[in-house]
Amino acid sequence: MEIPLSPISMIEIINKIEKEKGIRVIRFDIAEPMFTPPWDAIKGTVNALLKGYYRYSPSLGIIELRKAISNYLKETRNLDYSEDEILVTVGGKFAVFSFFLGLLKHGDYIVLLRPYWSSYKAIALMLGINTLEVWSKDPYHLDEESLKEIMSKRPKAIVINSPNNPTGGILDINDIKLLKDLVEDYNIYVLSDEIDWAYVYDDRKFISPASIENLKEKTIVIDGFSKVFCMSGWRVGFAAGPKELIDKMKIVQEHTVSSPTTFAQFGCLSAIEKYREYIPIIVRECDRKRKFIVEELNKINGIECPIPEGGFYVYPYIRLEKSTLELAHYLLLNGVAVIPGEFFGDNRNRLRLCYAISDEDISIGIERISKSIEKIKK
Ligand code: PLP
Repeated sequence: MEIPLSPISMIEIINKIEKEKGIRVIRFDIAEPMFTPPWDAIKGTVNALLKGYYRYSPSLGIIELRKAISNYLKETRNLDYSEDEILVTVGGKFAVFSFFLGLLKHGDYIVLLRPYWSSYKAIALMLGINTLEVWSKDPYHLDEESLKEIMSKRPKAIVINSPNNPTGGILDINDIKLLKDLVEDYNIYVLSDEIDWAYVYDDRKFISPASIENLKEKTIVIDGFSKVFCMSGWRVGFAAGPKELIDKMKIVQEHTVSSPTTFAQFGCLSAIEKYREYIPIIVRECDRKRKFIVEELNKINGIECPIPEGGFYVYPYIRLEKSTLELAHYLLLNGVAVIPGEFFGDNRNRLRLCYAISDEDISIGIERISKSIEKIKK
């Protein structure tokens, strides 16, 4: 089976189109908030280089950062992990890869909830791991019936991602209780991708399964610096879980990439120390942009945009003759980049738009979408 493309592949396509057509493409495709990272992160990175931190780091990551992450997980999600239960990785993506390669075997089954971030599926395919795909209930809840049905295949793990990319849906306490039942009854691992944990709106609460008794022992938490610190280029993420599982993931990292870049880890250390001041500001900004874009998109005839509970994406339904793949292509030629639902295993005619870009770009982008749709309808 062919490995699906990652939305990151859009970067090259967009650069080419901008050059060929001489236009500036509005980037709703990007999966990263376009805010400036904490200034301390930049200073911390440069200072680390000046101090001579340009050699290998321990493969678990530098101890100072692991201690800071331990504290951050406790304070933000009530999670108890010691520094030996934390693996600093080359982005959250490599934490996912290390989980799949370190804890699963070729031929194992894992459960993915549709719609899902495309890399779970791509990594599984690369490693010969089979996926069992069930729909989540809108916007992102576990469907007990379909999950229980596929348990007869004896999957080894389930991947959850709350707030969900692309829907923005958040698992609630009933979902977490159901997850606990599944773990107790079928002894599966949980990969809890919490990369967008802070983007939660309207008094909703983010619950990590690892904060629940009996779930923690089977759960690996994935997080990183790309989304809540806007430091995607540093390529630093982390995994937290029981030591014997983290040790298996560490071996994968040790023999592939060795460790994340040493001075980048020091930059992340400076960032995480500022999380209390930094994160609320960008989340407030995103909340404002979320309301604005939903209102504007819903004014376009042919688009129906639910308000997302979390994340920094909207995921509207498109009611047109064109498929979302065709529409995304058409919009790109008209100067707007979006990601079709097909990238997330979703064939229900939906598009993902990241709204963590400037207000001006949101407005220009919406206008271009509106005009393009008018042209299609004629
Ligand atoms: N998980 C999800 C749901 C994501 O959207 C991404 C990035 O797009 C990642 C994990 C990995 O992010 P990074 O490797 O930049 O830390």
